[in-house]
Amino acid sequence: MSPAESPPSSGVTVGERTVGAALAHARDTLQGAGSPSARLDAEVLVAWSMERERSWLLAHLDDQLPAEAATVLSSLVTRRAMGEPVAYIRGFKEWYGLRIATDDRALIPRPETELLVDAAVADIAERMVSDDEPIEVREVGTGSGAVSVALARRFRAALTLGRLRLVASDVSADALELAADNLAAHGLAHLVTLAVADLLDPVASLPQADVVVANLPYVRSAEVATGHGSLAWEPALALDGGADGLDLVRRLLSRFPDRLAGHGSALLEIGADQAEPVVAEVAGLPGTWSAVTTRDLAGHERIIRLARDR
Ligand code: GLN
Repeated sequence: MSPAESPPSSGVTVGERTVGAALAHARDTLQGAGSPSARLDAEVLVAWSMERERSWLLAHLDDQLPAEAATVLSSLVTRRAMGEPVAYIRGFKEWYGLRIATDDRALIPRPETELLVDAAVADIAERMVSDDEPIEVREVGTGSGAVSVALARRFRAALTLGRLRLVASDVSADALELAADNLAAHGLAHLVTLAVADLLDPVASLPQADVVVANLPYVRSAEVATGHGSLAWEPALALDGGADGLDLVRRLLSRFPDRLAGHGSALLEIGADQAEPVVAEVAGLPGTWSAVTTRDLAGHERIIRLARDR
C-alpha cells in the first residue's frame, strides 16, 4: 500500500480487534494496574465504549470492535488504570435498581447502603399504619441523594399527599446540586426538600424529626489517608469520620434530645466495628434507648436503628 492509500492512522490497529480481544486486553491492562475487579471493569468499560449492555457484549465476542469505540475504550481504560472509579468514569452507578448520577462531589453509593433504605422503608411504613400525623423524615448527609431518591420513589403517594415530609440535607452545597439532579432525573424533585445544613441543625422552621436516616462519613482518618480503592477519588468530607470514624455520628446523636421527636427513631449506616461504641454513646443520652442492628452480606453490623423507648 502506498502512503497515499493508507488509511488514517488513528485507532487503526486497535480497531482491528474483536470485542473478545479488546476485553482480554483491557482486563490484562487493568490487572497489571492493580484493579481488584479487572474483569468486571473491562466488561463494563468495553460495553460502555460500544454503547451496549454488558449482556450484549458477552454474546458478541467475535464482532469487530468499531474504531471509534476502540479510541474511546483506550481513554476509559487509561483512566481506570490510574485508579479512577468506574462509577466516576461512566458518571453513574446502578444502585437499588436505580441509575444514580455520580461524580466527585459525592460518595459513590455502596451496595450496603441499600440496607439502609430497606430499614428506613420498614420504619416509615410501620409509622404510616399507626400514625395519622404527617411523618417528618430527615435524611442527613444525603450526598448524591441516592437514599432520598429511593425513599421518595417508594413513598411517592404519601409524599404527594403530605402524609410524609422528606428533607434531605448536606453540608456540601456541591453535593446537594448532584442530589437535585438525581431527584429531577427520577421525577421526584417536587417531593423532596433539599437544604444545606450541618447534621440536624434546624432547617427553617421544621418540626422535630420522626425518622432520621443517615449514612454519615464513618471511615477513620488513617484509613481515608491510605487512599485505597475509591477513597482517593471521593470527597474526604463524605468519608472522613475522624480518628475513630465516629466524630460525625457522635455529633448527630448529641442533637437527638433537641431535634428527634420523643417517639422518633434513627437509622444509621455505620462501620464494621462501630455498633458497640454507638450503643455506648446513645446510652449517655437522656431517656432509655433501644438499638437493633442489621448485618450486611459480609456479616458486619452495618445498619443500626436507635429508638427511644416509650
Ligand atoms: N462504606 C464506605 C467505605 O468503606 C464508607 C461510607 C461512609 O463513610 N459513610 O468506603
